[in-house]
Amino acid sequence: MLYNNLIEILEVIALGSLYFLVATLSIVIPELTRDTYHYLSHSRKCKFLRKLHGNHHQIIKPRAKDFSNLDLEKYISSQWQNDIPENFVMLVISFLFPTLVFVLFNL
Ligand SMILES: [Zn+2]
Repeated sequence: MLYNNLIEILEVIALGSLYFLVATLSIVIPELTRDTYHYLSHSRKCKFLRKLHGNHHQIIKPRAKDFSNLDLEKYISSQWQNDIPENFVMLVISFLFPTLVFVLFNL
């Protein structure tokens, strides 16, 4: 009886730990995906991403911090060329990771 209760407690702890790990990685993995996407966008190896990201940095200059002279049409264009694909990749990875974990562990 005591042995069965101990096994049940350990199962609950193991399952809780797994959920905590999945929740934590669900935050960390999209952030790593964004950083990797940004790194590849600055890499000379991915010329397509580099061109799209270059358009983004022509509009968004983080060090300037003054967005008052922002050309709205170019800003929207850079959003479509850089930010939306980047967020789409993050979204796909965000869905894939927990789905994969739940399928693999049959949860
Ligand atoms: Zn950049």
